[in-house]
Amino acid sequence: MSHRLSRRWSSKAASIIRKITGNPVETDLSGYERTLAGIKARRLEKEPARALVEMSKDLKERARSGTALDDLRLEAFALVREASRRAVRLDPFDPQIIAGLAMAEGKIVELPTGEGKTLAAVFPAYLHALTGSGVHVLTFNDYLARRDAAWMGPIYELLGLSVGCIQEGQGAAAKRSAYGCDITYATAKEVGFDYLRDQLAGRIEETVLRPFHLALVDEADSILIDEARIPLVISGFTEAGASDALDVARHVERLEEGTDFQTDEARTAVSLTDAGLDRLERALGRGGLYDDSNQALLSAVHCALHARVLLRRDVDYIVRNGKVEIVDEFTGRVVDKRHWPDGLQAAVESKENLSRRGGGTVLGSITVQHFLGLYPKLAGMTATAQSSADELHEFYGRNVVVVPPNRPCIRVDEPDDVFATRAAKSEALVREIAAANAAGRPVLVGTASVRESEELAAALRAAGIVCRVLNAKNDEEEARTIAQAGRPGAVTISTNMAGRGTDIKLGGAGEEEKEPVVALGGLYVIGTNRHESLRIDRQLRGRAGRQGDPGCSKFFISFEDEIFERYGLGEALSDALGLEDGPRDVSPRRLNREIAHGQRLIEARNFNLRKSLWEFSHLVELQRRMVAARRESVLSGAGDGGLAGLDPALHAQCLSAWGKERLEKLEKRVVLYHLDRGWADHLALIQEIREGIHLVSLGGYSPLEEFRKSVTEAFLAMRQRTDEAVLRTFRSLARDPEGAELEADALKGPSSTWTYLVSDDQSGWGMGLLQGKNIGVAAIAAGIYGPLFLFTLVLGRQRRRRKKKRNAASKR
Ligand code: ADP
Ligand code: MG
Repeated sequence: MSHRLSRRWSSKAASIIRKITGNPVETDLSGYERTLAGIKARRLEKEPARALVEMSKDLKERARSGTALDDLRLEAFALVREASRRAVRLDPFDPQIIAGLAMAEGKIVELPTGEGKTLAAVFPAYLHALTGSGVHVLTFNDYLARRDAAWMGPIYELLGLSVGCIQEGQGAAAKRSAYGCDITYATAKEVGFDYLRDQLAGRIEETVLRPFHLALVDEADSILIDEARIPLVISGFTEAGASDALDVARHVERLEEGTDFQTDEARTAVSLTDAGLDRLERALGRGGLYDDSNQALLSAVHCALHARVLLRRDVDYIVRNGKVEIVDEFTGRVVDKRHWPDGLQAAVESKENLSRRGGGTVLGSITVQHFLGLYPKLAGMTATAQSSADELHEFYGRNVVVVPPNRPCIRVDEPDDVFATRAAKSEALVREIAAANAAGRPVLVGTASVRESEELAAALRAAGIVCRVLNAKNDEEEARTIAQAGRPGAVTISTNMAGRGTDIKLGGAGEEEKEPVVALGGLYVIGTNRHESLRIDRQLRGRAGRQGDPGCSKFFISFEDEIFERYGLGEALSDALGLEDGPRDVSPRRLNREIAHGQRLIEARNFNLRKSLWEFSHLVELQRRMVAARRESVLSGAGDGGLAGLDPALHAQCLSAWGKERLEKLEKRVVLYHLDRGWADHLALIQEIREGIHLVSLGGYSPLEEFRKSVTEAFLAMRQRTDEAVLRTFRSLARDPEGAELEADALKGPSSTWTYLVSDDQSGWGMGLLQGKNIGVAAIAAGIYGPLFLFTLVLGRQRRRRKKKRNAASKR
């Protein structure tokens, strides 16, 4: 299929989708503007502070006695506007109030960087907190939760509402009180972990959260899209299981690329050749890897290969203090508390010769996306939502409202400078940065990885340029550094999203030397790579030109950049531009258009990947909710999740023997114990099914169907096992109450738990799934950007599998 044809198709497909679903981007703000006029008409500046508190109290009472929030909107917004002027000395701009209105209606607001989204969120937060159910403002990191709660706190307090802030590592009492506030600032991650911890509580008093109400998500695109698939996990101690990882890693290390295994050009998938398979089977000496009894071993081999070939030290992860720490692809930063799925984590640790930390069992898990789905109401804000509107609509049913800035943006976005080689690009980068620096103009450079940041910094230092590199693990320190990126002569290098949420003011954090920087044209933002997502590139550009400041942005790219190699973009480009050897006499604008088109195709592919991953995780989430509902009913002592529902006669017998109170206490302990254990076993089983499922797709079956079948069966079996275990325990309790009660005392939850995030291995597991599915737009994209190689790999593997099967059959 030709490039041009495919473009026609994809834009046609997009327009059809639009027609069916309605356009998820709203640009008509006239309704909000009318409401805004009504808000501004309520003049409160002469009112004494006491009167504001009284008004706020009155609003609360009305909200609690059932007045619709819509009817309180004008008064509530007018109050916040006035309180903001007094308490934090900020007079909200119209776009901030409009953004607040849109969020109050559950929209995702796009408002550029530096326009004051922190304040905008206070409006809907206040309005929705009036009913007394807590509002959560979900921030990008812990530092921002702290900063925003402290910064905006006085507004709420002036109006008689309480504000809390959640930080990682806080004690349960502090958390309970912060969640008890009218408004709570926290990261989605930490609230999610608290939710998982609450799900293991043995008594209701141990929980810290209240029922969910409204989440206002800051940096919404990052959390709702980029982080959405990440599972939050809680684990607890059990005996460490034996692991094949180390042994396998040693043998995999000896394999040779080309003869023993091959990868696609993009290095997103790797597979063994027949020779490699034979070699490994001989070395391991445990029979055919595809034998049914060797499933776990095969999965360890896959993980070891993946770890060796596809995961690069210092790019995908670093090793520090004897631990593997994952580098986030989007922020380029080391992410705290993140693991790969278990097998892969073990494989990487083996590859790096690190000892494994004591084995734990996964006790609970939920993806960020499903976690946010627990909130009955959701709204968000970010500087870049528009280009992901379809995805936000599909996954969250939310429309995007685009609010223009208070003062028009005058930033100049220059077309990319394109180079044939990476070396040429580096040279040009150093020249360009040196020139700006010599004039005293501040430069912010956004790179794709920590390693690239450091290489560039070294080159700059060699050229005598002083620069600062952001790769601190400490968000607050990072914020302090980036806040100074607008000072004259500053050169700041950071990975693409480091320091999100921090304002870069011209002339320094206090705008001390604003004039000279304005005269030089403001902040100069340089991107050293195009990102897979156009949205992330826009996010970087948005660092310059805040609130009508002058500024400029430009990307330097080369055909040797990873994105070009990974997706074959270079070839597609020179095809599209009708060039044989590199894009010479092509207008930069044209080139930019083509690159943007390539990015859109990649985005479409990633969207589809996320969609198919969602389908898998959704089923498990539905099961989790069933278990959680039963747990909840047992924990709160309501409903029949306990013994009565299982065996009424036994229940009656126990009741008359022990009395209500004692039975309920025992019931809680016994049922919760077996329920939690059953669920943990189920999760382990799902992980196994998951690891094996891409092999199913190679056999020509639909992986989703197979997965559904296996997981449903497993769930039913788990339920039955749990019920039987509960009955067994109660029968022995009924027989021998004294001795058995001691036993029941031993049925306790895990003594210690810890939480982490799993970096989903998108390329391996996701791509495997896509092979077996009709993937619409992504198929079009894939058609051009060449994963034909994947098909050949897949076919090859399928053939090998059949061959193995035949061999195995003939041996029998
Ligand atoms: P965003 O999150 O949209 O990037 P922030 O909430 O971090 O923006 O605010 C950016 C800057 O704008 C802050 O320094 C803040 O003090 C300032 N600001 C916000 N609202 C106003 C306002 N109404 N008037 C003046 N300055 C404001
Ligand atoms: Mg912000």
